[in-house]
Amino acid sequence: MEKLVAQNIQDGKPYEITIKDNEIQSIVITESEEIPEFYFGPGFFDIQVNGYAGHDYNLVQDYFLNLGQISKKLSKKGITRHLPTVITNSKKQLGKLFHQLTLLLESNHIYQKCIPAFHLEGPFISPEDGPRGAHFKEFVCAPNWDWFQYWQDIAGGRIKLITLSPEWEGSNSFIEKCVESGVKVSIGHTSANQQQIEGAVKAGASLSTHLGNGAHGILPRHPNYIWSQLAEEKLCASIIADGFHLPKEVIKVLQKVKGDQLFLVSDSVALAGMKPGDYETPVGGKVSLTKEGKLHLKDKPGMLAGSAMNLLQGFNFLLKNNLASIQEAWKMASQRPEKYIFTETEPWYADKKKEFIILKKSKDSQFDHYKTFISGKETFPNTIQSINYEQ
Ligand SMILES: [Zn+2]
Repeated sequence: MEKLVAQNIQDGKPYEITIKDNEIQSIVITESEEIPEFYFGPGFFDIQVNGYAGHDYNLVQDYFLNLGQISKKLSKKGITRHLPTVITNSKKQLGKLFHQLTLLLESNHIYQKCIPAFHLEGPFISPEDGPRGAHFKEFVCAPNWDWFQYWQDIAGGRIKLITLSPEWEGSNSFIEKCVESGVKVSIGHTSANQQQIEGAVKAGASLSTHLGNGAHGILPRHPNYIWSQLAEEKLCASIIADGFHLPKEVIKVLQKVKGDQLFLVSDSVALAGMKPGDYETPVGGKVSLTKEGKLHLKDKPGMLAGSAMNLLQGFNFLLKNNLASIQEAWKMASQRPEKYIFTETEPWYADKKKEFIILKKSKDSQFDHYKTFISGKETFPNTIQSINYEQ
């Protein structure tokens, strides 16, 4: 039996949490005067995860259950839910990648809790160098509804978010069909002009994917697609706050413009969560991961090779740089992305069976993960099979 006092991130009050056999027994408000070192609140929700801890959603696996390690490792960092993100590839290969994700979800209820939907980033993005980022040029193409239906069928209707560029002809009718079928559309990896962005928003696009990245190195001062997206009040925006993808003053400006429509994504690749060192990757070749968490091409330290962060690190980055209060940063990592994907957020702590996380504040005002609960039970304590999660 363990008892701890933790501050509720939402009402700021101290609560006594009792845990027994990896399960929550009670959460009750207390009169305690001490300032708790623990905080509890809704689990973090990352809508853009390409891979983590050496496992990659963009590679067809010999054994698909290995991909379950991503949910497990992320839950140990407070990320209770995430959207596996599959990027530009051939029609057939994308089908295989969604198929293995579907098998993973069908293998155990815990994965259905951790993975509420999928994110398709591409292949209907800009073919131009710069905006295209590291996506394979040969597979980039105009929006194709039949193809999307093919992947959506394989995915069992779980693709809830697609990132595309509205610079293609036919983009707007494609966006309308997506939105009509319950799929959110995000603008990203784009070199669209003002008119195209305006048209996409009218058609129902509602997010900018990792705004400020996946762009040309040099842009006309105006107009350009960053201003255009900033100006669209109906567009939320996701950002990668790892200290390498965006300078902190840019994050500050994005916050001022987007307000509570701004939230965090990790956009993590398979090497995120790994030890610093040199690695060989199937797509990027030789890369280095520094102890600060920067992932770059081995011979070109200025060229990023993807993001190696998780949302807890993004949360800590915001706090360390005074870019947000604890409450604000917590929302940017949890309720805002949840509300974006599902329209409404779930009530979480009133029902002790809901998911939540406990973080521990360290001396330098950074936070470490302490425990994660889903359905009132600690996630992945030993073996997942031993826990019977609610359906
Ligand atoms: Zn991207």
